[in-house]
This record gives sequence, C-alpha cells and structure tokens, in this order.
Amino acid sequence: MLDIQKIRADFPILSQTVNGKPLVYFDNGATSQKPQVVIDAEVKYYQEINANIHRGVHTLSQLATDAYEISRGKVKEHINAKHAHEVLFTSGTTFGINLVTNGFASILKSGDEVIVSSLEHHSNIVPWQMLCEKTGATLKVIPINENGELIIEEFDALLSEKTKVVTVNHISNALGIINPIKYIIDKAHAVGAAVLIDGAQAVPHLKPDVQELDCDFYAFSGHKMCGPTGTGILYGKEEWLNKLPPYQGGGEMIKEVTFEKTTYADLPHKFEAGTPNIAGGIVLGTAIDYLNNIGFENIQEYEHELLEYATKRLSEIEGLRIYGTGKNKASVISFNIDGIHPYDVGSIIDKLGIAVRTGHHCAQPIMNFFCIPGTIRASFSFYNTKEEIDQMVDAVKKAQTMLS
Ligand code: PMP
Repeated sequence: MLDIQKIRADFPILSQTVNGKPLVYFDNGATSQKPQVVIDAEVKYYQEINANIHRGVHTLSQLATDAYEISRGKVKEHINAKHAHEVLFTSGTTFGINLVTNGFASILKSGDEVIVSSLEHHSNIVPWQMLCEKTGATLKVIPINENGELIIEEFDALLSEKTKVVTVNHISNALGIINPIKYIIDKAHAVGAAVLIDGAQAVPHLKPDVQELDCDFYAFSGHKMCGPTGTGILYGKEEWLNKLPPYQGGGEMIKEVTFEKTTYADLPHKFEAGTPNIAGGIVLGTAIDYLNNIGFENIQEYEHELLEYATKRLSEIEGLRIYGTGKNKASVISFNIDGIHPYDVGSIIDKLGIAVRTGHHCAQPIMNFFCIPGTIRASFSFYNTKEEIDQMVDAVKKAQTMLS
C-alpha cells in the first residue's frame, strides 16, 4: 500500500493553489511533476560538480563524467539492456525517433514498407513520413476499432517481406490503450523487419524489459517519468546502432578527424555529438531511483484503482463519452460531453484549479477516426487521489451546466 499523502509531500508543486484553488494536476501525460530529490539533484550538480564531460583530466570533469555514466548504467539496469553502450542519451522521445529514421534513410529503398499504427503521436508519424518521402518507401497504417484498439488481424495482413520497419507506441498518449507490443515485435521479426517502440507514455507506469521484448529500439522521455525536461533515452540493439550512421556530426562523436576523412567513435558516443544535457542526464538517474523506490508494481496497482474510480465517476455524467474503451489501459481517460467543445470544458475547469489537456493530443488521426476535434484528457499519476477525481467530476458537471 502506498502512503499517498507522504508521496505528495515529495512534490512541492502539488501544494500550490492555481486560480485561487488547490491544484489538481491531471496532465501527467504531457509531463509529470518532479519530486524534491530530483530538483535537489539538479541544483547539487550545478553547485558542486558542474564541468564538461568526457574531456577534462581535471577532477570536476571526472566527477561529472562518472555521474553521467553512472546514470547511463542505471538506465541500462532499469530497462534491462544487455550493454550500457546500447543506451543513448537524447533530448527526448522525438529526438530518439528522428535519430532512427535518419539512420534508416541510408537503408530503405523504393518498394520497401514501413508500418506505423493509427494510435501514434505525431512524433512517431511525421519522421517516418519524411523518411518514406526521402527513400520512396511506402507507409502502411494499422487501423483501430471503435474501442481504440489496434486491429491485430489487419496488422498481420500488412506484414510481408517488403516490411522493413514496424513502429508502434507501447501506450497511446491520447487514449491510454496499452498495445500488444510483444506480439507485434515477434510478428515483425518473423518477416525480418526492425521494430521501434515509442515508450514515451509507458515509462511513467511500467518498467520495460527490452531484452524480453526483443525490440530493436525503444525511445522515451525523462520528463514524463519525474525527470527533467530535455532528457530522454534511445535504447538500440548494438548491431543496429553499429549499422546506422551517426545522426549529428560534431565533437565527442569522432575517433579521428582530418579534412580527408573522419572516423566515428564507438558506441554510445557515435550518437552523442556535442555537449549534452549533463545535469539532466545525471538527474534522470535520480528520477529512476525515486520511481523504483516507490515500486512499479505499487504504481500500477494504485493507478489502476484511480482509472477504475475515475471511469465509474465520469460515467455518471449524462452525455459524457469516453474514447478508448479497450480492456488493456493505463491511467488515462479521454472524454467529451455531448454538444460541448472540449476546449470550453478545459478552460472552465482550469478556473477551478483542475489541469487537464484538451485538444488533439498530437494524435490527429485518432480524432479524425472518431470524427471529433479533440478530447478532454485526464491522465493520472501515483501522486493523484480519488478526492481529486471527485473534484474534477464536480468541476466537469459545473462546466456542463454552464455551457448547456
Ligand atoms: N510519443 C508519445 C506517445 C508521447 O506521448 C509523446 C509526448 N507527448 C511523444 C512521443 C513525444 O515526446 P517528447 O515531446 O518528450 O519528445
């Protein structure tokens, strides 16, 4: 059993008032709040060991380098990668995906196929479209059903020897649906395709095991899992990272530079050009420690309780429709109220201290599928409570009365 009040005390922002009301933060899908240990670790880095890494012989540089590499090691353990050099620091999921699509530009050719899903965030659609435009490959899309679940038989039917890459998110940001990624990875591998999993929405809720999943790439962002903004990880299997060309050229990613020819550094440095977000990378390790101390099993169990409670309470509201009614779901609820624009509901409940996301959630194809401009999305974290859900439900009812 989690002591939620004790956990809430770790997050200074949660005791704030917004618009004169206690803050109810249900926009965790966009970014999570940060516990004091994470904030302190960021300050401590700048106060005590700030120096550039992998360069200096001086003590501070070595301390900073050690802390950065220790953090890489923590991520490696956390996701169960085989090697620490398969863990690349990035600025976020978007960067990680673009790194991979850039690499595949030298591998794909006309006639090849890339499969994405209808549930993707724009950052896992647009880079693949750009790649297809560049290479002449074709983009194929796995459709969804009315519950917002991928239609798996359609995925099976799309697979062929032409399929070179398959990419899906682990959990949908817009609907909270958890995708059957193990099945998708195994099926894609059976036709020789590489698989990238967009884990942006999964890592706040679960601990991915990349070896068990056997995915080729797994991308995620630090800021959605209690870490700093501008941090992220791209996991890639060693053989793939050796095969792909570097994404950016610059310092740190080379072995030798002459005007005739440059040779690249070994992994992971080949993909880490320039001075990275050193503080952020180190502090991401602190965030991972924090989450592991709470325990992902505890997090999942409690968040599931919140999801069930919120689903039941919101369903009491007449004219409210929930999108993404599939069985396998994370603690995200997307909904609309008949005849009312989601933006209007979001604006009114904001005045009552409730922070939700409204709009298309960077997933316009899903909104097009349901023929709606957007939804109201409440995404819960382990520091939220049932009382806060009650406050949201009351606020939504008030908004409905005002707007009807
Ligand atoms: N994929 C998914 C599923 C997401 O939810 C997000 C963030 N909303 C991203 C990718 C992009 O993450 P970032 O903006 O941190 O790069």
